[in-house]
Amino acid sequence: MPYLDYNATTPTDRRVIESMLPVFDEKFGNPSSANHETGLAALELVRDARSQVSKIVGMRPADVIFTSGATEANNMVFNGYSISKESPRFLVAATEHKSVLEPCLFLSRHGADVQIIPVLPDGTLDLDKLNEKLIQGADILSVMAANSETGVIHPTKEIVQRAHAHNVLVHCDATQAIGRIPFDAGELEIDFMTFSSHKIYGPKGCGALIATREARKEIQAILHGGGQENNMRSGTLNVPGIVGFGKACEIAMNKKESDNTLQQELRDCFEEKIIQNVPDVTINGKDAKRLPNTSNITIRGALADAIIANAPEIEISTGSACSSAAIEPSHVLTAMGLNTGEANESIRVSIGRQTTREDIDVAVNAIAKAVQYVRGKEAEIAGSMNQC
Ligand code: PMP
Repeated sequence: MPYLDYNATTPTDRRVIESMLPVFDEKFGNPSSANHETGLAALELVRDARSQVSKIVGMRPADVIFTSGATEANNMVFNGYSISKESPRFLVAATEHKSVLEPCLFLSRHGADVQIIPVLPDGTLDLDKLNEKLIQGADILSVMAANSETGVIHPTKEIVQRAHAHNVLVHCDATQAIGRIPFDAGELEIDFMTFSSHKIYGPKGCGALIATREARKEIQAILHGGGQENNMRSGTLNVPGIVGFGKACEIAMNKKESDNTLQQELRDCFEEKIIQNVPDVTINGKDAKRLPNTSNITIRGALADAIIANAPEIEISTGSACSSAAIEPSHVLTAMGLNTGEANESIRVSIGRQTTREDIDVAVNAIAKAVQYVRGKEAEIAGSMNQC
């Protein structure tokens, strides 16, 4: 069955699994127990992984703080800053992931001033709204590198320049960008960046906050205990996860593996065929720069949940997996100007390393068939309501 939900998670690469296996077995040590061989061997593995993770984002190994994923890393930035400073001021893009928006919302109930920056209809940050009046006096500006639902890429360089001109720190959630587009946090001079292992063919439950030495001084730890990760994140390190994460970064850095030309071709082919076969569809964010693997489409007159239920041949999503339990429409799509109905008629197809041309054909056929059925049913229901 074609799996077309790579933005939710990716399958763990075989080479990653192999790199992790010894850590469950002979290399089982605790890297904090560096007073014996077994502990030292584990510490060595973590050191190597730290270097692999730092390289993919152009930062130094000392800048890497291992976490349980991007959610924790994002929370560390805002919660950690709020411990340091009373009444901080955060500027946050409207289309950020919930793991950024929710901690900010929580903190706004406890004294933080949180300003939401709107996006344009193409999904990119409205730079006119990011004006001097708004930026002045802000502490952290948070804009993700690429959106998980639409794949829309923000102009990170320009955003960082504008923030730094006013001494505002920049947080960039690069979870969906790493391994898909070139992203060098060092060159971009980003202060805090976050990403997750399981989006780049690594294991789940591992990620990182990458912060410059200066930025690290601005936040406090939110987990206290044994003082691991330079006192920034206590708790015994998830060595298997960290080793797998490092290997996944090393693989993603390989030019051949990070060449997403084929994925872009498949994505474009999917969109072309959907437009040909399904009337009245819109591609969300199509006028912006997008990740090469992501397609978010609104199919008028057919609810996304109904399309998915009637297309059992494929695995796709209605948007962000993290909010699939919530019944509200996608906050990303509504921020781009779609109404609730349109947002609820939108599906996300995300392609990955294993996707083939046949998968695309199966997906287009399955979606076209499901849409025809659902539109027929919805018209039938509307007709019977009119009769009443
Ligand atoms: N940020 C973005 C942009 C994401 O796509 C996700 C995962 N959906 C997260 C953060 C959360 O990552 P994790 O599942 O590793 O906590």
